[in-house]
Amino acid sequence: MGAVHDGVVVVGGSLAGLQTAECLRAENWTGPIVVVDADDEPRFDRPPMSKQYLAGTVEDDRLLLRDRERLDGLGVEWVLGQAVTSVEPARRVVRIANGRELTYSELVIATGVSPVLPSVLAAPSAHVLRTKADADRLRAHLRPGGSLIIIGAGFIGLEVAATFRKVGARVEIVEALQTPLQRQVGPLVGGALQRIHQRAGVVFHLGREATAVREQDNGVAVTLDDGTVLDADALLVAVGSTPGTAFLAGSGLTVDDGVVADAHLKVAPHVHAVGDVVRWPHPLVGRSVRVEHWTTAIEQAKYVAKRIAGTGGDEPFAALPYFWSDQYDRKIQAHGFPSADARVEVIDGDLDADRFAVMYLVDGRATAVVAVNHPRQVLAGRRRVLTELTLQEASS
Ligand SMILES: Cc1cc2nc3c(=O)[nH]c(=O)nc-3n(C[C@H](O)[C@H](O)[C@H](O)COP(=O)(O)OP(=O)(O)OC[C@H]3O[C@@H](n4cnc5c(N)ncnc54)[C@H](O)[C@@H]3O)c2cc1C
Repeated sequence: MGAVHDGVVVVGGSLAGLQTAECLRAENWTGPIVVVDADDEPRFDRPPMSKQYLAGTVEDDRLLLRDRERLDGLGVEWVLGQAVTSVEPARRVVRIANGRELTYSELVIATGVSPVLPSVLAAPSAHVLRTKADADRLRAHLRPGGSLIIIGAGFIGLEVAATFRKVGARVEIVEALQTPLQRQVGPLVGGALQRIHQRAGVVFHLGREATAVREQDNGVAVTLDDGTVLDADALLVAVGSTPGTAFLAGSGLTVDDGVVADAHLKVAPHVHAVGDVVRWPHPLVGRSVRVEHWTTAIEQAKYVAKRIAGTGGDEPFAALPYFWSDQYDRKIQAHGFPSADARVEVIDGDLDADRFAVMYLVDGRATAVVAVNHPRQVLAGRRRVLTELTLQEASS
């Protein structure tokens, strides 16, 4: 057994984990902190990996969340290139891949998600996109006159499509649902974004599933469920992600599409979770959610750090989710909980204009605002969503 620590152990040292360690110090928490990450270099920021970094307009050093000197100044022990393999909450111990055990006074789980690669699509040349190494491999195919097939029309698939089209590569997208982003923003806004991509030259195969992938001399061939065969230099599979919870098997902690926490992001006594991996009951919508957004990961890290340091209040974690996405010259921004079943009301512009804003209404109350190139409406919409959801919470 290696050194024993009686401080905070953070599992996962990327956006949410790193931010937790930093905030603990900002809150004057002086005890030991150990951050363990399976990756040798977890500091790379992910949003540029489908946008500026993939396009080659941002280089490696600008991709780093923090520079090393700043992190060294925190007095944190970084255990990198070692996965945590198990947790024993009763003994307050985590075990890492090299056999070392760390005891903790408080544990923070910040293990994020990893891309799903269904076995039928798992050809050697199939790309996924989560890490810098993934982005580097995909970037090798980015060239005018090149070609890419993307399976999955979610945010990552559409952002990569825009990046490849911008250099003049041919892009075809295969999506099982009838519109892109249907689950994320519903069919109306999904349809508007589809038209932006079609005008840019992207070809969609909607309502279609890929059934086979075959390597060939100059790339890959993808067979669809209607018998169509597409070919291209490269294939990106962007069909969703799995929360990083495998190491919790046998821990007794509840896992259900994420590690399940209470409204204070507490998983069990002395165990907390932050970032893409956590599912918690959101007080503003009265149901459990798991949010894969950059800003939410940071807000959760700050919240948990304050609770551990004893400087936080007793309110549940209720930050309104926010995300942005950049596609061509469009900035898409959303606050709240857009859903496919909501009534969508256009509040400015129209869905085929260069800019527009829409409100999502469920039972007559605003639940989300989504806007394209419209920051002013997004802020006004955010205030309305917060007010109406808070009123609803107070009356229920
Ligand atoms: C290509 C891409 C583009 C994106 N663009 C946007 C955007 O435009 N807007 C937006 O709001 N969000 C965007 N996101 C989402 C955003 O990046 C995530 O919400 C954010 O990275 C979540 O941070 P996290 O720390 O929770 O998880 P991660 O960043 O996934 O970090 C988890 C860390 O845990 C480590 N880990 C996992 N398991 C273990 C283990 N057992 N032991 C030790 N370490 C472990 C991993 O190595 C990793 O370093 C994008 C994501 C991707 C991939």
